[in-house]
Amino acid sequence: MNADYIGVLAFIVIGAVLAWKSKMLSPSGAVMAVLVGSCLTLGFGIKGIIVMGTFFVSSSLLSKWNGKKKSSLVEIHEKGSVRDWAQVLANGGIAAAAGLSVFFWPTPLSFLALGISLASANSDTWASELGTLSKRPPISIRNFKRVATGTSGAISLGGTLAGFLGSLLIAVVSTLLFQLSLELFFFILFFGFFGMLIDTILGAYLQAEYICRKCGLHIEKPIHCHEEAVLCKGSSWIRNDTVNFISSLSAVLLGLFFFNGF
Ligand SMILES: [Zn+2]
Repeated sequence: MNADYIGVLAFIVIGAVLAWKSKMLSPSGAVMAVLVGSCLTLGFGIKGIIVMGTFFVSSSLLSKWNGKKKSSLVEIHEKGSVRDWAQVLANGGIAAAAGLSVFFWPTPLSFLALGISLASANSDTWASELGTLSKRPPISIRNFKRVATGTSGAISLGGTLAGFLGSLLIAVVSTLLFQLSLELFFFILFFGFFGMLIDTILGAYLQAEYICRKCGLHIEKPIHCHEEAVLCKGSSWIRNDTVNFISSLSAVLLGLFFFNGF
């Protein structure tokens, strides 16, 4: 291991501690971030950390900036804006695997997997963070009715546009850093955005949703008002993290499949 790696690793550890101190990561989230960051460094060096950092910093800032409005959404969501290990793994696990793969078996496809997985995560986060700013409530893709802002599986024009921009940012940053071809750029942009769409569909049909027995609120967590809530949709073992991971993985696999076909 050379001095460059040690420098980048020290930078990752400092970044994880700062993210934990500023309540962007839980302690378990900070440990997972160091593991994911180390795998990225092995395969992609500091450039991999910059792409991951673009996702992490932009989406964390959007969450914080959106903080006031979000306080009511914490009621709906299973978790608040402090990311734990499962969220870090759901968003960064595929990028980490791509880092290990390029370290052991170098191939240009690893850059595609890195780009699409982070573009999909960024697209999804931007869509949900910025979508909640829209004045009109979003429309559920299950019944096309307007539902409470922040509901999984609901879409709005503003959120969809934000999701596109989120994917575009990662596509631009990774293309410039790794000097990827224009074709790879469009693959990352398209499949990153597509991952967000898969996320919405899985969120609408598979993700667990509960209804509180006391206050009647629809929520993503199994306990509300200090009581066990009733499952009203989806499967109890499919949480938001699971949906994020499955949609990222599907977008990456589809992207690799279609790229190989060209
Ligand atoms: Zn309640």
